[in-house]
Amino acid sequence: MMENTPTNKELYQKDKWIKPFLKKYKGLLYLALVLGFLTFFSAGALMFNSGYLISRAASLPENILMIYIPIVLTRAFGISRPVFRYIERLVSHNWVLKMTSDLRLKLYLVLEKDAIFFKSKYQTGDILGLLSEDINHLQNLYLRTVFPTVIAWLLYIFIIIGLGLFSWWFGLCMLLMLGVVIFLLPLISVLVNGARQEKQKVSKNELYKTLTDNILGVSDWVFSQRGQEFVHSYEKEEAKLRQLDEQIKRFNRFRDFVLQVAFGVITIAILAWASVRFPGNHGGAANWIAAFTLTVFPLIDAFAPLPDAAQETNIYKDSIKRLNDLPELEENQVVTKEISITDAEIKISDVSFSYAGTTKQVLENIELTIHTKEKLAILGRSGSGKSTLATLIRGDLQPDKGSITLGGLPTYEFGDQITKSIGVIHQAPYLFRTTILNNVRIGREEASEEEVWQVLDKVGLKEMIEGLPEGLLTMVDEAGLRFSGGERHRLALARILLQDTPVVLLDEPTTGLDPITEQHLLDTFFEALEDKTIIWITHHLQGVHKMDRVIFIEDGQLEMSGSPEELLATNQHYQQLYAIDRGTNHR
Ligand code: ATP
Ligand code: MG
Repeated sequence: MMENTPTNKELYQKDKWIKPFLKKYKGLLYLALVLGFLTFFSAGALMFNSGYLISRAASLPENILMIYIPIVLTRAFGISRPVFRYIERLVSHNWVLKMTSDLRLKLYLVLEKDAIFFKSKYQTGDILGLLSEDINHLQNLYLRTVFPTVIAWLLYIFIIIGLGLFSWWFGLCMLLMLGVVIFLLPLISVLVNGARQEKQKVSKNELYKTLTDNILGVSDWVFSQRGQEFVHSYEKEEAKLRQLDEQIKRFNRFRDFVLQVAFGVITIAILAWASVRFPGNHGGAANWIAAFTLTVFPLIDAFAPLPDAAQETNIYKDSIKRLNDLPELEENQVVTKEISITDAEIKISDVSFSYAGTTKQVLENIELTIHTKEKLAILGRSGSGKSTLATLIRGDLQPDKGSITLGGLPTYEFGDQITKSIGVIHQAPYLFRTTILNNVRIGREEASEEEVWQVLDKVGLKEMIEGLPEGLLTMVDEAGLRFSGGERHRLALARILLQDTPVVLLDEPTTGLDPITEQHLLDTFFEALEDKTIIWITHHLQGVHKMDRVIFIEDGQLEMSGSPEELLATNQHYQQLYAIDRGTNHR
């Protein structure tokens, strides 16, 4: 576990997600930092001036003109501080919004490209939520950690040089004292609490998993009369976690105390130094004492948040890692030219394919032509390469050898425009957590409600949705659980119908349904898709008799091919399968 968690530094160095955008908006970034610096500079200067002014005024200046300049300066800094602060907020938020909108676009493109594989890697939409949450985190990373830290460093350098000009040895003293606040405390925070936070995260996850797992199996605990035992063991784990929480908090309190003490020491040191450096009476050099001392207070605002900010980098680490672990986005991925095809013939010529990094040939020298509006069933055992073939047809993978064309154009070159030509329904269609209307409209954003009702009618869901209290505006809860498997497939079909693609790929769209529902669903599918090319991947024969042609894939090759009637009449293997399928499905 530990060796897999890279250090903060490694992560930020290897980061390929955020850095390019840092470069892109360099100008705004510098402006935000300079403005942040000027805000604190004005605050410090305001106090400095005020300190001088108060002392000077208290010592009864001979002439009001003596304090005229400090009065004007006090006004000027009094105004410039909020103005700089306001502009700084505008600029830094503007910068962050620009960054995050670019990041979101990039995230979208990456996920979109990877959509087919994505499905198999992550079952729910959780990951999407997680990733977009990550981008929110990054927003905070900049606003709450990076900006304040860099600004504090700039101030630090400025103060040290400034003091150094008055007296080199006191400059050196402050270099060390402020260094404790700016570097040492944040560093210790990250080191001490970083490890604890990591541990806290792991054990929280663990606890959560155990709890959900055991709640799902709660009846077994109760039946075996060991419920108490489970509760005890859970409480023990929970107590450990609380202890860890307590440790983190205790450290934070202690650290804040040290921080306040450090500021106290710094203030007294400045007071002492200024008293020695500017000896004299009221009205003389002594006026500077208050000026220097008061300046410390606004600067505390700049330095105090640093340890907390540094500690937060631990939280952002996961986000940065997750984003960087996403697949790379190739430059030429967004196809901008319009692709239109006149016929929908799919031609697969001499195609071989193996997954990158594996030696196994999944497909070998496949030859297949699928005519416009043909109804084709692809059968084969689990792992025989059916889904791989489907992915190649859709152009989401490129064959190692040979070519796959749709209407004469290689499908790999369609990019995201393939969605206009080939629609896909998977084994477990995903429903998004929004209204039914939006879920169907994913097929075609601009479709009217009337059109949506039409396709819902075609897929046999009209009545059911009309019966819902909120009709089309009913929310689909997470992962679409309120819908049965069959209903979910019907909704997916409605999407495809709305999308109106000439070719529809069905990848085992009925797995997990009972034979009767399956047959109904298949009937609906074939009826609704009558004037389209259907490529239907299935592992058993139910419904296959409605197809024009059946092909079998085995060991990466096409084994038999023919119309269902032909195969049933002449092919012994097919006859055997048919017998088995009849036997299991009782139709
Ligand atoms: P099923 O009926 O179970 O869905 P399938 O016929 O669709 O099976 P494929 O998913 O095409 O089979 O897989 C064919 C072979 O390729 C399998 O041996 C599988 O392990 C391998 N394979 C699939 N996807 C990948 C991948 N992303 N990387 C490496 N190998 C893969
Ligand atoms: Mg498959």
